[in-house]
Amino acid sequence: MASDYQVVIIGAGVVGLAVARGLAQLGVNSVLIIEKEDAFGRGISSRNSEVIHSGIYYPPGSLKAKYCQLGREKLYSFCRENDIWHSRCGKLVAAQEGQENELQDLYENALANEIPELSLLDKEQVAAVEPEISVASALFVGCAGIISAHELMAAFYRISEDGDHDIILKAQTMGVEPKGNSYSISVKGPGEASYKVTADWVVNAAGLYSDMVAEMVWGTDDNNRPALHLVKGSYFKLAPAWRNRIQHLVYPLLDSTHDSLGIHISFDAGGDVKLGPSVEWLSERKEDYAVREEDSIFFYEEAKRYLPALKQEDLTPDFSGIRPKLVTNDDNYSDFYIRHEEDRSFPGWINLIGIDSPGLTAAIDIGETVASWIKES
Ligand SMILES: Cc1cc2nc3c(=O)[nH]c(=O)nc-3n(C[C@H](O)[C@H](O)[C@H](O)COP(=O)(O)OP(=O)(O)OC[C@H]3O[C@@H](n4cnc5c(N)ncnc54)[C@H](O)[C@@H]3O)c2cc1C
Repeated sequence: MASDYQVVIIGAGVVGLAVARGLAQLGVNSVLIIEKEDAFGRGISSRNSEVIHSGIYYPPGSLKAKYCQLGREKLYSFCRENDIWHSRCGKLVAAQEGQENELQDLYENALANEIPELSLLDKEQVAAVEPEISVASALFVGCAGIISAHELMAAFYRISEDGDHDIILKAQTMGVEPKGNSYSISVKGPGEASYKVTADWVVNAAGLYSDMVAEMVWGTDDNNRPALHLVKGSYFKLAPAWRNRIQHLVYPLLDSTHDSLGIHISFDAGGDVKLGPSVEWLSERKEDYAVREEDSIFFYEEAKRYLPALKQEDLTPDFSGIRPKLVTNDDNYSDFYIRHEEDRSFPGWINLIGIDSPGLTAAIDIGETVASWIKES
């Protein structure tokens, strides 16, 4: 018996929607998106820095390096073609006195990743480029930028709709059963409705719950299965007096002990400036997005190191997001997990797990890649 849909996508964040857009581009119309919230983009995709990352940090050859590098330029083109707010503003990675070697290592990693538009700046050059910033030296990365994540998702969604795709909202995937060459997916919602949908292909793009959705198909026996650690990141916004006073993204050097980029400065379309995100490893899988007022001391002290005019009263709690980081046994680095699980005996099942930063930047290329696997099969 034919399946209800050729493809079911679980999750309507930027990654699931990018896959839908990729499928629509290739003329794959039999697609259903299942989303547990009442609209698309209510998860990680609307709780992040909205930075178009350059890809300078990732180990050469990693999936993050590959998808970020390819995704970045595709994203800029897509934004231009679809009138999505963005700015190729560039970023400064700021080094303090004594951090010259670390800055040089980062520069060399960026060169190894073939990142364009790089230059090392001394103190005076930094001050000329960004007068509010005072540091010993910096790496300038011209290809980094910012984007409206909501406008991006809305554009992906429109393309999916134009491709005749279906979406059900307030509908949670509860279980999955392999059925020969297809999958039967149990869905609950909206409301009390409970039903099954069959599909030849399933794309697991469930963000913070992607490891749990994967377990629905392969169980919990395999100790090598990817599992997630959730890491909360909070943001503070700066007083309106700071509006439009910063023209570039500004980052400290990588905080490798926390696997984070450190407390950085970014801004939005209106020029409003924010600081963040922090790093808080969560012990349980709970979506608590409260930002603690008392954390402003930490944010202030971190940012004051390179933004001397900052006062603590300039900071107000803003929002937070949660990163889905892959737990790794071998090293400190958590890469993306992007796989068609054919070799685990689940043909047609695609897992997109651990898509934390730079997932927003990479989404367009992840979407096109996954769509091509499905189209070419
Ligand atoms: C603090 C922070 C800062 C970041 N900054 C950046 C940045 O500056 N640049 C960048 O490139 N990336 C950044 N990222 C990463 C980026 O935001 C993510 O990689 C990206 O948004 C992940 O998208 P997603 O679609 O996988 O997840 P989500 O947006 O969470 O989408 C998954 C969807 O699946 C749904 N879902 C889950 N389980 C089920 C189920 N059982 N049934 C049905 N639906 C389900 C959820 O409701 C959700 O809508 C940041 C992330 C964080 C947390």
